[in-house]
This record gives sequence, structure tokens and C-alpha cells, in this order.
Amino acid sequence: MAIKAPKGTKDVLPSESYKWQYIESKWAEICAEYGFREMRSPTFEATELFNRGVGDTTDIVQKEMYTFNDLGGRSITLKPEGTSPAVRAFIENNQYAETQPTKYYYNAACFRYEKPQAGRLREFHQFGIENFGTSSMLADAEVIALANDFLGRMGIEDIELHISSVGCRKCRPAYRERLQDFLRPHYDCLCDTCKSRFDKNPMRILDCKSKEDKALVKDAPMMLDSLCDECREDFETLKKHLDAMGITYVVDPAIVRGLDYYTKTAFEFITTKIGAQGTVCGGGRYDHLIEEVGGPDMPGVGFGLGKERLLMLMEASGQDFGGETKPQLFISWIGDNAREYSVKLLYDLRRAGVRAEMDTKERNLKGQMKYANKLGAAYTVVIGDDEVESGELTLKNMENSEQTKVRREDLIDVI
Ligand code: ATP
Ligand code: MG
Repeated sequence: MAIKAPKGTKDVLPSESYKWQYIESKWAEICAEYGFREMRSPTFEATELFNRGVGDTTDIVQKEMYTFNDLGGRSITLKPEGTSPAVRAFIENNQYAETQPTKYYYNAACFRYEKPQAGRLREFHQFGIENFGTSSMLADAEVIALANDFLGRMGIEDIELHISSVGCRKCRPAYRERLQDFLRPHYDCLCDTCKSRFDKNPMRILDCKSKEDKALVKDAPMMLDSLCDECREDFETLKKHLDAMGITYVVDPAIVRGLDYYTKTAFEFITTKIGAQGTVCGGGRYDHLIEEVGGPDMPGVGFGLGKERLLMLMEASGQDFGGETKPQLFISWIGDNAREYSVKLLYDLRRAGVRAEMDTKERNLKGQMKYANKLGAAYTVVIGDDEVESGELTLKNMENSEQTKVRREDLIDVI
């Protein structure tokens, strides 16, 4: 039986990978401009990190993690998201002792055991940023601005920024009770998952994907209407910063992050252009996460942005991704002398940084030219005994068929 890639994973072949390279290079560029520095963390972590850092009442921890015991009997989990590993690295490497804030960006493969569908994979990829060490809304605004600017640079227009506040440890307990009071008479109608959320994490019921539950919570009290003074002020300040930058948003009280260590700002960039999985980027503030993972009491804010969904959206809107790189020069040859001459010429050109190419299948001249066409080479040159002897080459521009004579030693400059 032929072996296939595991369900929910994807190969990225050269006809696609140049698109990935394009968004990755633009991503690194914008992060540098906004003062975020790259951090890389392992693909797997101790399971305990995610139990604490994602939260053991979440879908991710309850049913989506790739967890196994390694041969040393340790419980290991493939990274389902990027924030808790960044927090763990920040703490473990004593980065909290440096001048704050700490601004990281990353580019990570994430693993979640989900039902695969368009825009939902079991191995997917995220861009992310985190800002540790400041509770100022300037940090939240900067994080949102980077996401907004990046999506704009990627040519995306059909997307909406939704923002909300999920409150804090001061105002959430009272809200939680109000929400439970509202839901209690409808408890029997909730889906099984939400029944189990009722005590532990009722705010996640607001985020349930089931139609019935969605209808049920339509009139539920909202956190946004129950904020304490500090949270309300912060939310107003955030909006002021966004307004100052001219970033448009929709206040959407339905955005939730159900865990205690997520606080205040929550946001998502949502599109209707790529089907049901329309959230391209999600993030927010987590003022108690660093402490929860075992570090000092330090605030943080950040986001994760799904690369597959971003690519889908860019394709849907007809972006060209800068085009795939093609050879600048294709060298074809006839005869043994010319072959060795060409081998050397090819190597010299490549060492000088020219994208030069030759046919390693040793086809005849006609075959070589066909191949050059297929590769989309900008120029071709044919080497025969005459060229070897005289050092004078005929360069053919493949676009307009124009031919120019060039000395071998001038070739690099001309190309
Ligand atoms: P969703 O509600 O779609 O499941 P989420 O809230 O679980 O998303 P986050 O944990 O906030 O997602 O992850 C940030 C981003 O990563 C998402 O906005 C999305 O673009 C992407 N993402 C999440 N899960 C997947 C997946 N299984 N496949 C592809 N991309 C994903
Ligand atoms: Mg999810």
C-alpha cells in the first residue's frame, strides 16, 4: 500500500513554496520594523506547559493535543500554539530580568487534532508576536497595528478587525455569575461540551460553534457591559489609539477568551472570503499567563496568525506573491569541449550570484532549449567549439528573441 501523508497535513511543493517564502520574508521585515525580534522554541514541550498555559478547560487541551510519552517516560506534547512556549522560554532564560518590554516574533508549526477541512489542518503554521512586560494599551495598539499593517501589505482588503474586552480578575467573577444565572434555565438545551463548560468556563459557551447554542446565547449578558472602571478605561484608551492610527474596527462583544489569565483586550481579524474558517488572526492580552506558567507577575499581549488561512485569502484576492524565481541564464552546449567549458562557466556564474542553469539530463540541443523554455530562463546562451575557442558568446533574450554578442569575461556584468 502506498504511504500517504498523515490526515490533516500538507506537502508544500515548489509551485507553492515560493508563496510561503514571500509571506515569510515580508513577515520578518515588518516585525523588524516594529521592533519585534525573532525567538525560536522547540517543536515539542512538556505537556504540563499547555495544561497551564492554554488551560485545561479549553478544547485544545481537552481534545486536540498530540500528546505521547517519550522513551524516557516523559509526557510530551507537540506545540498546539506559540504563546506558552514563548512564555516558557522567556522565564527559563531569565529574560524578565532584562529591560522591558520584551518583544518577540515567531514562525511556528502547530499541531492540533481537529477535523480537517479547508483552512483547518492538524499541522498548521502560525506567525505570532508577543509583547511581555507592559500593561499599557500602547502595547495592545502596537500589536493590533502590526497585524493590520501586515494584512494590508499582503494586499488584503476584505477583512474586519473585531475587538472586545474580556475584563479582568476584578470584574469577571461577578459577570460569570450573571452569565451562569442567565444560562441555568437553558442548561438542558446546551450541547454536551457546553454543559461541561458551565461550571468551569462558562464564557466559552458564548464561543460555541453549535447553531442551537449560538441562538441561545444571543441575548446573554456580555462581559463588555460588565467591565470594572479600569477595564472600561483601558478599552476606551485602546480605541483612542486605534482611532489615532486610522485603524477601523468593529466592537464585537462575542469575542471571548475563556481563561482567567486572559484579560482585557481580545481581538480577531475575520473574513468571509475563505469559507467557514474565517478567523485569520486572533490575539489579546494575558496579564496572568506568565505567572501561571511559573514566572514573575508580568503582563503580556500578542497574537497568532494562521499562515494557511492567510495564503488562502491572498489567493482568493489574486495576489501574485512576487512570482516564482526563474533562471537568469540557461547554458546549452554541443560537444564534449563545450560541455566542460559550460560546466566551468555555470559554476563561475553561480559563485558570482547569478541564477544560472544547465540541463543535467544531457539532452540534445533541441531538448536543452525546450527545457530552458520550460524553466522560463530570461536568457540563453549556446556553447559550441567556436564559442570555446573565441570566448565570444551569443546571448539570446528569450522574451524578445534579441541576440547580443558578449565576451565571456563580461557575461556576469551583462546579466
Ligand atoms: P478557530 O476558532 O478557527 O479554531 P482558534 O481560536 O482555535 O481558531 P487560535 O488558537 O487563536 O485559533 O490560533 C490563531 C490562528 O491560527 C487562527 O486565527 C487561525 O488563523 C489559525 N489556526 C488555528 N487553528 C488552525 C487549524 N487547525 N488549521 C489552520 N489554521 C489554524
Ligand atoms: Mg480552534
